[in-house]
Amino acid sequence: MPLIKSWLESANDPDCPFPLNNLPYGVFSHPGTQPRCGVAIGDQILDVAALEAAGLLTLADKPVFDRPEWNAVMALGPDDWQRLRTLLLGFLVEGAALKSQVSAYLHPLDGATMHMPFTVAEYTDFYAGRHHATNVGTMFRGAENALPPNWLHIPIGYNGRASSVVVSGTDVRRPWGQLKAPDADAPRLAPCERFDFELELGAIVGQPSGNGQPVTVAEADAMIFGYVLLNDWSARDIQAWEYQPLGPFQAKATATTISPWIVTRAALEPFRCATPEREKPLLPYLQEPGPMLYDIALEVELTPRDGAPTIIAQTNYREMYYSSAQQLAHHTTSGCPMRVGDLLGSGTISGPDKDSRGSLLELSWGGREPLELPDGTQRSFLHDHDRLTLRGQCHGDGYTLGFGACSGTVQPALPDPYRR
Ligand code: CA
Repeated sequence: MPLIKSWLESANDPDCPFPLNNLPYGVFSHPGTQPRCGVAIGDQILDVAALEAAGLLTLADKPVFDRPEWNAVMALGPDDWQRLRTLLLGFLVEGAALKSQVSAYLHPLDGATMHMPFTVAEYTDFYAGRHHATNVGTMFRGAENALPPNWLHIPIGYNGRASSVVVSGTDVRRPWGQLKAPDADAPRLAPCERFDFELELGAIVGQPSGNGQPVTVAEADAMIFGYVLLNDWSARDIQAWEYQPLGPFQAKATATTISPWIVTRAALEPFRCATPEREKPLLPYLQEPGPMLYDIALEVELTPRDGAPTIIAQTNYREMYYSSAQQLAHHTTSGCPMRVGDLLGSGTISGPDKDSRGSLLELSWGGREPLELPDGTQRSFLHDHDRLTLRGQCHGDGYTLGFGACSGTVQPALPDPYRR
């Protein structure tokens, strides 16, 4: 599909992340205004809350934009998601009849504060990147036992904490936790010494599933409202000591950062691509009726406090072994009910090459091969005041479809978290 031209000139720039083909959903404010729902277009944000209040945009028999979250729109379902997209296209397309009325509801993207775009109902994180699982498994168990026996059959996941999900721009404090070196006799409580990021994509579930009712991969795909970039901050030393036998707990509970704009499934349609060839056939309930991944170029930027930004990894979402639709379908095999606003982390997205690894654990190979930064410092894991930014984009025919940046800065651990 080529660029859909808008009367808003900035949206037609081939490098603009927010052309008419994208139309991502966020919650924004400017100084002195309340957070409200908006849609990014070119270098502007369309205030859909104000459009609804003015009677120019009606999606349901009651208001759905009168709150600073997109959950009410999600709950309407896929037919209304498509209707909203059609209405927005009609407002903003070149030659639109309502141009002069609609232009009064545009506000500059520059200077806007972005907020959480939806209320996270529950959060599940997966482990569905084969290169990542192989790298981590090789480091911890050796190359022969890198992939656990279940890995090629199950999209492995664990239940995370919705309460810890924050929007891009939120500082993240280095956690304290139980640490135990392999040769130490006993654990100690100390600030994390191996604080890391994980490059992931987050799928947002926009429709519920029934209690006790598994869904197919096709049904799961139709339930997904959109995607965000996701950084699953990870305390590797806390994780190493706590994770057996029930998986990560406090190591993953400090924070998970998401990008502020929900890129819809509809916008991503032209970029669908297939999961890789299966080494072991999947059980029928996990087989895909069509291509379920997307061609999304991803990069990770690290900026020390007084240093220059450096791209430390570049990869692509098409490297995943399991899609979000497969993960969602698997999530319901037990009858687990899914809710509007559930967030599914894809798992770390690493590619096959050394510079395509989606975590410092892999990039520095467990700390044995530290990265050299242009300021002369080394990184095995994150330092205090490091800013970590994830970016993603799809390259279309004469346009770019961008995800907003997913950024967070590491703050020093509290001197003594139990001091009262
Ligand atoms: Ca993760």
